Amino acid sequence: MAAIKTIGILTSGGDAPGMNAAIRAVTRASIFNGLRVKGIYRGYKGLITDEIKEFKTQDVSNIIQQGGTILKTARCDEFRTPEGRRQAYETLKKEEIDALVVIGGDGTLTGARQFTSEYDFPIVGLPGTIDNDIWGTNFTIGYDTALNTILDAVDKVRDTASSHERLFFIEVMGRDAGFLALNGAIASGAEAAIIPEISTEVDQLAELIEHGFRKSKNSSIVLVAESEITGGAMHYAERVKNEYPGYDVRVVILGHVQRGGSPTAYDRILASRLGEAAVEALLDGQRNVMMGINNNLIVAVPFTKAIKNDKPIDPELLKVLRTLSI
Ligand code: ATP
Repeated sequence: MAAIKTIGILTSGGDAPGMNAAIRAVTRASIFNGLRVKGIYRGYKGLITDEIKEFKTQDVSNIIQQGGTILKTARCDEFRTPEGRRQAYETLKKEEIDALVVIGGDGTLTGARQFTSEYDFPIVGLPGTIDNDIWGTNFTIGYDTALNTILDAVDKVRDTASSHERLFFIEVMGRDAGFLALNGAIASGAEAAIIPEISTEVDQLAELIEHGFRKSKNSSIVLVAESEITGGAMHYAERVKNEYPGYDVRVVILGHVQRGGSPTAYDRILASRLGEAAVEALLDGQRNVMMGINNNLIVAVPFTKAIKNDKPIDPELLKVLRTLSI
């Protein structure tokens, strides 16, 4: 295997707070180890169109506290085609980039895996998504910040919910994963979370009503994971109006506010550790792995496992929420 002299970094898919801390970590760890670093703009799109700039240590100064990604991000359909990936490979050769660190969600890692199955090229991935839906890592970069943003919002909704004695369905992101909804519900003291992982097994609304929620309370808050499987918060509000007309129901859809904001200490530290570990892994000759965190230890997870496996919800968390919301 040829020695790595230059590492390229890109962020792809949905942006997540802490991506900048990861870019900084990869850049600084590379330079610390005597390597050159190139920032690739707009994810895989920038690889195809050659939007690339060399990064020096000062290019990543003063970004650890910023949300979003200074490298920008994009969804790139061209990279899904063999021609697009060939063009990306040509750009990597032209720019003399010997290895890549890609930061993004499940789709980003799938793209990296596809690319490495066609080209003999070292790539290490970092899990960057607010959804926390990637197998092999306890946490993804951005999840903790998004969870705290949700708490801020739910606390505010609670003030109005209790003043008016209303039932609120608050929709949070998660793209078919209930981590934000479930942990957001526990942390905000909500009555329940409606999550896709158990949507097909139980009628969560009927269960909620049967458990007698709101009997002794003057307001109720239910977090709903945005997903085609759950149908989202509007679907549940409609159902309550039709099936349990006694309730005064409102819906709040938090949407993109959940993606923004300065990363929490946890996300900054996670991104810094994973970014540094990605460079170490490449220098150790590792490739086609995602760096993750497991019981506070950094682990290397093969792309195949990270992509293929679904990350399960811990049933103990459901129990905690049910027990504490009486
Ligand atoms: P998030 O979880 O925040 O949505 P993500 O990384 O999963 O982030 P996607 O839009 O699913 O976001 O994927 C990002 C990019 O990865 C896509 O726009 C595409 O360029 C690339 N990609 C995804 N799947 C594939 C694939 N099967 N083959 C090649 N490239 C892919």
